[in-house]
Amino acid sequence: MKEVEFLIVGQGLAGTMLAFELLERNISFRLVSSTQKSKASVVAAGMINPLVFKRLTKSWMADQLMPVMRKRYRELEQKLSSSFFYEKKILKPLSEQETLLWNEKMEKPDFATYIEAVLPDSPSDAVAESYAFGMVKESGYVNLAVFLSLAEQYFREKDLLLDVDFQLNEEVHTYFEVADTKAQKIVFCEGYHLAQNTLFRFVKMNPAKGEVLQIYAPGLSEEFILNKRVFVLPVGNHRFKVGSTYEWDDLSEKTTEKGRDSIVERLENLVTAKYSIEEHWAGVRPTVSDRRPLLGVHPQHKNVFSFNGLGTKGVMLAPWFARLMADYLQGKSNTLPAEVDLNRFV
Ligand SMILES: Cc1cc2nc3c(=O)[nH]c(=O)nc-3n(C[C@H](O)[C@H](O)[C@H](O)COP(=O)(O)OP(=O)(O)OC[C@H]3O[C@@H](n4cnc5c(N)ncnc54)[C@H](O)[C@@H]3O)c2cc1C
Repeated sequence: MKEVEFLIVGQGLAGTMLAFELLERNISFRLVSSTQKSKASVVAAGMINPLVFKRLTKSWMADQLMPVMRKRYRELEQKLSSSFFYEKKILKPLSEQETLLWNEKMEKPDFATYIEAVLPDSPSDAVAESYAFGMVKESGYVNLAVFLSLAEQYFREKDLLLDVDFQLNEEVHTYFEVADTKAQKIVFCEGYHLAQNTLFRFVKMNPAKGEVLQIYAPGLSEEFILNKRVFVLPVGNHRFKVGSTYEWDDLSEKTTEKGRDSIVERLENLVTAKYSIEEHWAGVRPTVSDRRPLLGVHPQHKNVFSFNGLGTKGVMLAPWFARLMADYLQGKSNTLPAEVDLNRFV
């Protein structure tokens, strides 16, 4: 029997980022990954947008998250000898009223970091007419399918990955056993599947299903991510991810005609180029009722932890909060910010 300090349950974005943190700190662990349970991370478009367009505000903690995020994905690209982090500007068609707001905000030093320009004409091909166009910088995307598949291979080669659907016994013991491994502590990074984990019934999860299309559109510029009610994100070879939808009642993980039609309708209001649909995916976001991450130790079981709740913006949040969580697990810090501590639900 091999003995390690931690089991990390789930090799989505949360579990993967945490595993890299523990590895770099020489803390022993095994990643436990289910081949039967779905992974939101591989469905996600992986978009990074430091702004919230509705009222043109900054995304939560954007100023702190952005530099840490950029540095971390670059480091991991080097570690895995590949590219999966792409900086790309976002082009947002604006109404007359929005244009006033964008021009006003652009003057503020606080927003100048993220708003590059407000343009009278679209610099991108085949975009529907609009009053003006806002251009966002510091944005981009992470190809999560590539990143997570490389990370899986990396951990597998180091013998740190177990293909097991972890089942929790009714009782929590002083240790956890899976395959040939025994661990003192466990961190659940189960994504929205945490809602089925009996130990975490007290947490108010509010999972949100989402659907995404991949289209082939050779007439559409690949230089920008387009975003107005729907994102059109270039992923190379004239392919674009287009999405997404939000659905709270049907968490079936199945693609639907309704989802597809809703994306198509918004897409056709945004672009004039011809396209064909090549792929259609559905996944469930691990969203929490107050839309904040879910970190920390179980209120009764001091060897049970959660790193979850990455919600709709996992790509931006994961690097910062994986580091915070690792500091906490390592005992470098004894408390977590109240707004992300899972004990806020106790
Ligand atoms: C349609 C859609 C679009 C999105 N677009 C974006 C976007 O553009 N930008 C962005 O930042 N975020 C986006 N997201 C959100 C992003 O996907 C999530 O924030 C992030 O991927 C969550 O990662 P996670 O590791 O918590 O969960 P997951 O990726 O779901 O991973 C959980 C893992 O745990 C495993 N697991 C669960 N239970 C067990 C068990 N008992 N034993 C073993 N393994 C287990 C599962 O198999 C899975 O591999 C989107 C999500 C969806 C669904």
